[in-house]
Amino acid sequence: MTERVPPHSHCIVCGAAIPEGERFCSEKCRMEYERRRKKAATLQWMLAGALIALGVVLMLRGV
Ligand SMILES: [Zn+2]
Repeated sequence: MTERVPPHSHCIVCGAAIPEGERFCSEKCRMEYERRRKKAATLQWMLAGALIALGVVLMLRGV
């Protein structure tokens, strides 16, 4: 026999069961997610900047 589970989602930060359509179980998890997202975005920008700097250096040396 299969237990019927009402439609629900899971908090994308800690995985707790939450009402369907929700993404976070609490304000704390929402803030944690925002924090991680900003950190990842900053890292991406730093990587892009490093690649551009490397490209400029290679270009200047290549002449
Ligand atoms: Zn959570």
